Amino acid sequence: MIEQFARALKQYWGYDSFLPMQRRAMECIAQGRDSMVILPTGGGKSVCFQAPAVALPGMAVVISPLISLMKDQVDALAECGVSAGRLDSSLAFEERRAVIGRVRAGTLKLLYVSPERVLGEWLIELLGQVNLSLIAVDEAHCISMWGHDFRPEYAELGRLKETFPKVPIHAFTATATDRVRRDIAERLSLREPELLVGSFDRPNLVYSVQRRGNRLEQVRAVIERYRGESGIIYCIRRADVDTLCGELRGAGYRALPYHAGMEDEERRRNQDAFIRDEATIIVATVAFGMGIDKSNVRYVVHAGMPKSIEHYQQESGRAGRDGLEAECVLLWSGADFGVWKHLLGNIEDPLARKIATGKLGEMYDYCNGVGCRHQALVAYFGQSLRRANCAACDICLGGLEPIAEPLDVARKILCSVARQGGAYDVAHTAAVVTGTPKPAVVEAGHDALSTFGLLEAHPRPLVREWIEQLAAQGCLSKDLESGGLTLTPAGWRVIRAEETPRLLAPAPPREEAKVPAKVARPTEEGWAGVDEGLYEVLRRLRKGLAEERKVPAYVIFGDATLRELARRRPSDRENLLAVSGIGERKAGQYGEIFLAVIRQHCIEHGLALDMDFAAV
Ligand code: ADP
Repeated sequence: MIEQFARALKQYWGYDSFLPMQRRAMECIAQGRDSMVILPTGGGKSVCFQAPAVALPGMAVVISPLISLMKDQVDALAECGVSAGRLDSSLAFEERRAVIGRVRAGTLKLLYVSPERVLGEWLIELLGQVNLSLIAVDEAHCISMWGHDFRPEYAELGRLKETFPKVPIHAFTATATDRVRRDIAERLSLREPELLVGSFDRPNLVYSVQRRGNRLEQVRAVIERYRGESGIIYCIRRADVDTLCGELRGAGYRALPYHAGMEDEERRRNQDAFIRDEATIIVATVAFGMGIDKSNVRYVVHAGMPKSIEHYQQESGRAGRDGLEAECVLLWSGADFGVWKHLLGNIEDPLARKIATGKLGEMYDYCNGVGCRHQALVAYFGQSLRRANCAACDICLGGLEPIAEPLDVARKILCSVARQGGAYDVAHTAAVVTGTPKPAVVEAGHDALSTFGLLEAHPRPLVREWIEQLAAQGCLSKDLESGGLTLTPAGWRVIRAEETPRLLAPAPPREEAKVPAKVARPTEEGWAGVDEGLYEVLRRLRKGLAEERKVPAYVIFGDATLRELARRRPSDRENLLAVSGIGERKAGQYGEIFLAVIRQHCIEHGLALDMDFAAV
C-alpha cells in the first residue's frame, strides 16, 4: 500500500521521495493504527495524511484550528488536482450545500472541518453515511494546556474516538514536549498510538541572538540582506508593532502591521498582501502566523524576546519552510523579561501562570546561552545534534568567541556575589566588579568590598553578559521576582576552581574575507548552478499567474521548485515532471508556458537546456 501512497505523492505533488518520517507516518496510516507525528514546521506533515487520503478509498476528515489555514490547504490541494473541501462558519449557504453534496456523492477525498463543528449532530450524521478513511488532527498541541496554543474548542475532540471508534486517528504537531505529547494521546483517547518524532533541527535556518541596541538599524541590517524577499518581524506589544512599522515605512520600506487591536478587515488585507507577495515585510505580534503556510519567508526577526522557547521555535520556524536557507535573528534586552512578567501576571489560573513563568525563564536562558543555538533549541525538545559545529548560528559561526581566562573572570564575579551577601541583581553586581560607584552600590557599602573594581578593565555591558552567561550555566540562580543572584553548588565548584565555565565575548572584527558567509547572506550553496536571471524571469511569470488565479505565488510553485527549474532548465514535459514539486496537474496547467519561457531565455542568453536529467 505504501507504494500507492508514493505514487500519489509523485502524481499529485511531484515529489520523488519521502522526507524523513513521512514514510513511517504513512505506514501507520496503511496499517490503520492511531499515530502521533511530531515534525517541525516545514517538516512536511501535510502530505503525510493527504497522500494516503488520495490513495485510500473513502474520504479523510482533517481537523484544523483556523479557517485561513483550511482555506490555504484546500486551495493548494485543488492546484495539485486533489478534490478537497471545507466546512466552516465562513461559508455561504450555497457553498456549504455544494460541499455537503460532494460529501454525499463520495467525490471528496479530504474534508477540512473546524473542531467545534466536527462533533455537531448533523455533521456526525453526515459523516456516518460515508466511508471514512482516516481522521487527521492538525496542530494537535492545541488540545493541551501545557502547549503554547491551548484552544478550548479542541477539548471537544476527546469525543472523536467514541463517536468514530473504527476510524484511525492521526495527530500532527510541530511542537510537543513530553508533557504535551502525553496530553495529546490521552485527550484524544488514541489507541496504542505509534509515536513518530522527527528531528527538531532546521539546518537551513541560521540563528543569531543580539542584544537590542538601535532597534531600527539592527532590523534594517537584516532586511537589507534580503531585499525584495519576504520577512516577518515580531514585536511583543501592539504599540511596538505600530512604532517599528512606522519607522520602517519612514525609511522607505513597504512594511505592513498586524496585531489583534486592528480591525479584522485591515488585518486580513495585510495578511493577504503579505501572502501574495504584494508587501514583503510584515511587522506583527504573535497574533500573526498560525494560519500562514507561506513557504518562502526568508527571515524572521524578533524585535523583542518571545515568551517561551516553544513560541520561539514556532515563530522562527516560519522562515524557510521550503527548505531553502533563511535567517532567524532575535533582538532582546533584559527589560523584555520584565514586560512579559507583567503580562503573565494577568493569567488568573495559578498553575497556568506558574507554567508560563517557568517557560519565560527558559527563554531568557536561551538568550544568554553560550552554546550552539541549534543545539539549545533541539535540547529543549529532548534531542541532541550529532554535529559539534552547526555552521548555522552566531556562536558556531564565530560571532562570539570564548575568552582566554574564563575561570579567573568567573571567580571574580562569583566571589563578589558571595561577598555582597544579599540577593543583588545583575546590574548591581556588574557595577560592583567594574568599580562603578552607583548610589545603590555606595549605599550598600559595596564600594568597600575587595571585589569592587576587580574587572574594571572590561566594559560594564560585557561584564553583565558574563554574569548572565554564568546564570545560564547554572552557576548563579536568579530570583524570578527581584532578579537577585545567589550562588549555586555549581557556582561554588567554580570558586574552588574545580570546574571552568564557558564565557564568551564578541569576536574581534575580522578581515572582510573572513566574515562568515552564512551570516552575511546565507545563500551560496542553495544557488549553485541556478541561473539567477532566469529565476527572476520565472518569479515574475509565477507572480502574474498567481494574480490571475487569485492564489498565493507559492501555491503555484514553491521557491525550491522555481530554483530547480532555473538550474535544470527542462525542455520537455518529461523532464519538467522530473523536477521536484511538479505533479501531473501542475505540469498540465502551467507546463507549456514555463517551458516556453525557459526555452526563450536559454536561447537569448546562450544557456544549455536539460541539465542533470541524464540520470533520471
Ligand atoms: P509542515 O506542515 O510540517 O510545516 P508542509 O506540509 O507545509 O510542512 O511542508 C513543508 C514543505 O515541504 C512544503 O513546501 C512542501 O511542499 C514540501 N514537501 C513536503 N513533502 C515533500 C517531499 N516528499 N519532497 C519534497 N518536498 C516536500
